[in-house]
This record gives sequence, C-alpha cells and structure tokens, in this order.
Amino acid sequence: MIGIIGSGAAGMAAAVTAARLGASVTVLERDKRAGRKLSATGNGRCNITNMSASVNTYSSASQSTLDEMLGNLSPAQVRQFFDSLGLPTREEEEDRVYPRCNLAGAVVDALRLAMGELGVVLKTECPVKSVKREKHGFGVALASGEHLWFDKLIIAAGGAAAEKNGGTADGVTFLRNLGHSIVPILPALSPLCTETELIRPLKGIRAACVISAFAKNTLLRKELGEVQFADFGISGIAAMQLSTSIAQHNEPITLSLDFFHEQDEQDLCDYLIKRRDAFPQRALPEWLAGLLHRRVAEMLYKYRNLPLSLLSGELTDSQIRSLAASMKNFPLKCTGVKPLPFSQATAGGAKLTQFDSATMESRLVPNLFAAGEVLDAVGDCGGFNLHWAWVTGITAGRAAARCE
Ligand SMILES: Cc1cc2nc3c(=O)[nH]c(=O)nc-3n(C[C@H](O)[C@H](O)[C@H](O)COP(=O)(O)OP(=O)(O)OC[C@H]3O[C@@H](n4cnc5c(N)ncnc54)[C@H](O)[C@@H]3O)c2cc1C
Repeated sequence: MIGIIGSGAAGMAAAVTAARLGASVTVLERDKRAGRKLSATGNGRCNITNMSASVNTYSSASQSTLDEMLGNLSPAQVRQFFDSLGLPTREEEEDRVYPRCNLAGAVVDALRLAMGELGVVLKTECPVKSVKREKHGFGVALASGEHLWFDKLIIAAGGAAAEKNGGTADGVTFLRNLGHSIVPILPALSPLCTETELIRPLKGIRAACVISAFAKNTLLRKELGEVQFADFGISGIAAMQLSTSIAQHNEPITLSLDFFHEQDEQDLCDYLIKRRDAFPQRALPEWLAGLLHRRVAEMLYKYRNLPLSLLSGELTDSQIRSLAASMKNFPLKCTGVKPLPFSQATAGGAKLTQFDSATMESRLVPNLFAAGEVLDAVGDCGGFNLHWAWVTGITAGRAAARCE
C-alpha cells in the first residue's frame, strides 16, 4: 500500500505511474481539489516541460545529484507520458512545451481521470498533520484526528511558494522530522523590490531590456526580457529569473537596466546626436517618442537633471553622451526579493544527496520517497519546475511500486 502526500504535479504523476504498475495507491490532499497550483501554471496554459531541460537550467546545493535525477526521464519521455494520458503537447518558442489545447485545467483533468481509471484513492480536504516512521511502514496522522498506515510513503507536498495557490512548507517539515537535512528555503522566481523614487511614475509600464544583477562589482546573472514596473519595484520573467540568485546573497545588490541591448553605447550616442540634429525643435518628451516609452524617457531625463522644458537642439554632446550611458546602464538599488507567498517557486528543500538518484528513495529511511518542489531544486521560468516534478514523481512512483 503506497501513500502519497500531495496531489499536485509530482504526487499525481507518481500515483498514475505506481497504479499502472499494479500498486494500490492512496493520495492525501489538503485542498478541496487536486492540482490547484498546477491549474494556475503558465498563465492558465501550463508550460508542461522544456525540451532544453538540463542541469544548467536549475539551481541546487547538489548539482551533480540533480543532474543524475534529471537523467531518469527526458523531456521527450515526459511528453510521451502525457500522450499516454490522452493529452498531446506541442512545442513553442524557447523550447517550451504546452498542452495542445493550451489549458492548464486539461493537464489536471488528464491526471485526475487517469487516477480514477486506475483505481487510485484520492482523499481531498485531508490535510496531513504529521508522519511517523513505525516498525513496518509509516503512520500518517490527519488533521481530522484519523490515523492511516502505509508501507511506502511518497512525500510530494510541494514547496512554500504561492500560498494562495496552495503552497505550504508541510512537506519539508515532514521530511525534517523523519531525519532529513533541509537546505534553507528561499523565494525563487519572485518579483524584485527596489528603490522606487525614480521608477514610481512607471507603474504598469513594460519595457524590453537586459537586466543585470551585481553583488558589489560581481555580475550574478543577466537576463533579456520584458520588465514590468510596479509600485514596489520590478516584475516580469527577466526580473523573476534574477531573484533566485539575488535571494541567496546577503550583500547589497545593484541592478542595471539596459534599454538598448541591441546597440552599443557609442552607436546609440551617435544615433542620438543625429536625431538631435534632425529634430532640434522638439521638446524633450517628444524627442524620444518612438524610441522609448515617454515615461521611461522622462525618468531618464530626470535622472540626468535635464529639464523637460529643454528643446532637443539645446542638448550638448556631453549631455547626450551621459543620457546614452544611462539608457545602457540605468542603476537601480535592489532592496530584496518579494517573499515566498509572492514567488512562483521555492529554492532549497530536502537535500538531494540523501535520496537515491535512480529511485528517489530516502537513503536514511527505507520505503520513504520524495518528489517535486519539496526537494532542493529550482528551475528557471520555461517549464523547468514542472519538468522536475514529473521526472521525480514518475521515478518515485515507479520505484515505490516495483518494491511493493
Ligand atoms: C502562478 C504559478 C505559475 C507557474 N507556472 C509554471 C509553469 O508554467 N511551468 C512550470 O514548470 N512551473 C510553473 N510553476 C511552478 C510549478 O507550479 C511548481 O513547481 C509545481 O507545481 C511543483 O509541483 P509539486 O507537485 O512539487 O507541488 P504542488 O503542485 O504545489 O503540489 C503539492 C500538493 O501538496 C498538497 N499539500 C501540501 N501540504 C499538504 C498536507 N499537509 N497534506 C496534504 N496535502 C498537502 C498541496 O495542497 C498541493 O496540492 C508555477 C507556479 C506558480 C505559483
């Protein structure tokens, strides 16, 4: 009898896999329904996996174990798994894979239907309070006061990110209480808080740029993408990708926004000088229209102390040089990363080296398995976190069923 805590991505993939191998499976889910977070993924479309998933697209304290674990299933095999559930997928730009119907709800339905057809018992509104290792198997105490017993247990209770989508740290607590080491949990794929004085008027605006994060003068990471300005700082995929590295650093972080990544500073400066000479009568707010969002341009003028009442023809070459420098490198102090409730994923979790890479079975507690975000692995945006959930869930389900 296999018990699975959590009917998210990893738990449902484990349940279907184990039941297909003939195991008797019960899934315990605290929420009213299975796959609540899964149904919110990819803006409702569910970016299921990424054809380029590899160890380089993840971060963990145990990169080589992570690499071995990812080797259990390729992205193509993940797609075959969904095909076998009657859910075809298709590839889009940047190797991202989505369900053909573009509906995250259909991914949940495919897994839920398969569980039903295979006789998996799904108990919803059934929060697990604690887990105890017994002489044989595991005792599971439910919040209702009921006690259940399983001879094998898969902990797939997810991470603490996105509380409103059902995130909890329960899985990590269960594993810690069973003797596992936990790599400290931090928000990942989260918006960035910054100083706001200059950017406040940009709230709601999106701008394509390269954004770089520096700790002292060391580049932590840089990303190209659309930055979304907010009253607390910046959001959007590029900013969120940086957050995982930023959250792991205690030193002050400076961001640099390059609004003209396709041009070097000298070319940009030459172009702006030509533009000044072509349109000398234009007031500054109009002069950059068509190049930059008006409010972004106004912020850059303010940063460079250039009054908006100036005409472009009044700008000196040296003022244009400094403006070009700020368009290429607009510095913004990062004051932190939005906390876990606002993040899309959790960095840290149960230490990977304490699990067998080929089976996801605990090296400390026989017949205990873990899968998904509860483990210390976090991927970039692009389908990598769900890929991790499927790979580890399917591996754990297969191994738990085989040793039944
Ligand atoms: C808004 C949003 C969009 C995202 N989009 C994408 C995307 O497009 N592609 C991608 O790869 N990743 C995406 N992610 C990340 C991805 O959703 C997660 O990494 C993934 O769902 C983790 O799977 P999991 O099974 O480990 O955990 P979950 O899917 O969170 O499932 C864990 C389950 O365990 C249950 N549970 C928790 N505690 C208990 C308890 N005590 N007792 C019983 N049950 C419990 C929870 O209710 C939950 O149902 C997104 C995340 C968010 C928040």
